[in-house]
Amino acid sequence: MFALMQGSRAESLHMVCDPQVGLKAVVAIHSTRMGPALGGCRFLAYPDEDSAIEDALQLARNMSYKAVLAGLPLGGGKAVIMRPPQLHDRSALFEAFGRFIETLAGRYITAVDSGTSSADMDSVARHTRNVTSTSEEDDPSLFTAMGVFAGIRTTALARLGSDNLEGLRVAIQGLGHVGFPLAERLHAAGADLLVSDLDSSKVQRAMEAFGAHPIACEALLSTPCDILAPCGLGRVLNGQSVPQLRCAAVAGAANNQLSSLQVADQLEGRGILYAPDYVINSGGLIDVALRHSGESLATITAHLSRIGLRLTEVYAHSQAEKRSPARIADALAERLLHVD
Ligand code: NAD
Repeated sequence: MFALMQGSRAESLHMVCDPQVGLKAVVAIHSTRMGPALGGCRFLAYPDEDSAIEDALQLARNMSYKAVLAGLPLGGGKAVIMRPPQLHDRSALFEAFGRFIETLAGRYITAVDSGTSSADMDSVARHTRNVTSTSEEDDPSLFTAMGVFAGIRTTALARLGSDNLEGLRVAIQGLGHVGFPLAERLHAAGADLLVSDLDSSKVQRAMEAFGAHPIACEALLSTPCDILAPCGLGRVLNGQSVPQLRCAAVAGAANNQLSSLQVADQLEGRGILYAPDYVINSGGLIDVALRHSGESLATITAHLSRIGLRLTEVYAHSQAEKRSPARIADALAERLLHVD
């Protein structure tokens, strides 16, 4: 466990076990140097405890990097609750989790993530104020989509010489909470959409609303396009998929798109510009963080413009240093966080 912590340079790791409600949870705090660590809470079945800890540590580090590059006064953390095989009382489990969060005295603020809902956050909120994305708040996905849209413009300018999206072929993998509103914005800007989703009804909706072209899920990554926007699950960019890509750039919302940093070098070698995921998808975090501290909608929207500026900076360094934007973004975040 300590080796895992050292590997991800985490500040602290907290655990709770409450057999009465079936709660086994880990909170990984990567850094509180810039402010309290904000990050979602996953509720998933894990094969073992080490995998849960590893997931929390890696995700917490990404949250720190995301927050610092978005210019937010926040650190990075993540919670993972190991989903029990049988769940008797969901709200009791999340209430117990809320009591645990309260013991961390504000060093960690939790939020919705894979497997959790705003109703779960309502249960957490009965015992702590260090929670966001309750049912009283709006879904931040729209802000994520707005940020990704701005990031696609910046990426098109850097790679193709123009941020005019008219006629640009954008392939979107996943038409969920982020992918669908992103498609809406791209369509309004004149882009030609190629879309896939495991759920065919979402594809049908995009065909009807935006004249999108349906692509089979297994064919999307190798479909010729200008920009590939992964908006489904993580690790879509790996040793198998990268040689098949037929795009000029990858710029999408999914977290953890790269299976490893070596894959980023492979993309660079193929001349495919990669928008680091935690930079381009930070719109939702910006929304959640600023709303939690009481900022207005106008301030939140204005803050989103930092995404494009940060990407421009990353691409400029990448070109000058001939290193992948993923490595540049990591190095920039580490410098800002004073990681040795
Ligand atoms: P979602 O669950 O609402 O949508 C994901 C969609 O992708 C679903 O419709 C699913 O059917 C589809 N999908 C999954 N695998 C696919 C595949 N192989 N091929 C085609 N379609 C596939 O999730 P979301 O909230 O839209 O988030 C999308 C991604 O963006 C996730 O990786 C998430 O972690 C990341 N992200 C989301 C936010 C946010 O604000 N929601 C913020 C930052 C990052």
